[in-house]
Amino acid sequence: MTQPVTSTSLHADLGAGDIDAPLVVGVLALQGDVREHLRAIAGDGVTALPVRRPAELAAVDALVIPGGESTTMSNLAIAFDLLDPLRQRIAAGMPTYGSCAGMIMLADTVLDGRADQQTFGGIDMVVRRNAFGRQVDSFESSVEFADIGGAPFHAVFIRAPWVESVGPEVEVLARVAGGAADGRIVAVRQGNLLATAFHPELTGDLRVHRHFVQLARAARTH
Ligand code: GLN
Repeated sequence: MTQPVTSTSLHADLGAGDIDAPLVVGVLALQGDVREHLRAIAGDGVTALPVRRPAELAAVDALVIPGGESTTMSNLAIAFDLLDPLRQRIAAGMPTYGSCAGMIMLADTVLDGRADQQTFGGIDMVVRRNAFGRQVDSFESSVEFADIGGAPFHAVFIRAPWVESVGPEVEVLARVAGGAADGRIVAVRQGNLLATAFHPELTGDLRVHRHFVQLARAARTH
């Protein structure tokens, strides 16, 4: 009798070598700056793919949620039948990185959102949408970013959220220095989930993406 092939037996058949297989990282491609993230994430041993359908989501090891507009992303996730599959994968530990609107989508609680706005959740944090206000709709700031090493990160903020508060499991990785928003939290990690209020895909500095890829690899080999 033929045995059903389960993902466990598949992994067993591949043996120890499977951890050398390319890591497949999806970029949620409902809306936003998808192309820039695909370019930033693809590289040595990493295949980057746009994700628009549940079947595409099932094929990735990790996911990037780009910046854009979280209310639109919420509508499209529902229209494309991705809201529940994404919530389930994230809750089950899929390494996920959200930038700007992507950070909002990973928040358990959103302030100043649209009343019917949905998130995927996963990070025990309260995020305020469009938090930096009108005068500083867009700005750039140098942030000390724990975990990525080296020089401060040149961070680009575009109608960005900030993290108003975090739960006990959340590690704060970066805060804005100076100005009216001094000390506001703009990068966090909880387990396999990483989020930044800023857009590292718009600068040539790939340290945040590399850090995320490392985190995703570590999650696969455990
Ligand atoms: N203000 C946007 C929102 O609420 C986020 C902006 C961005 O991703 N650049 O979704």
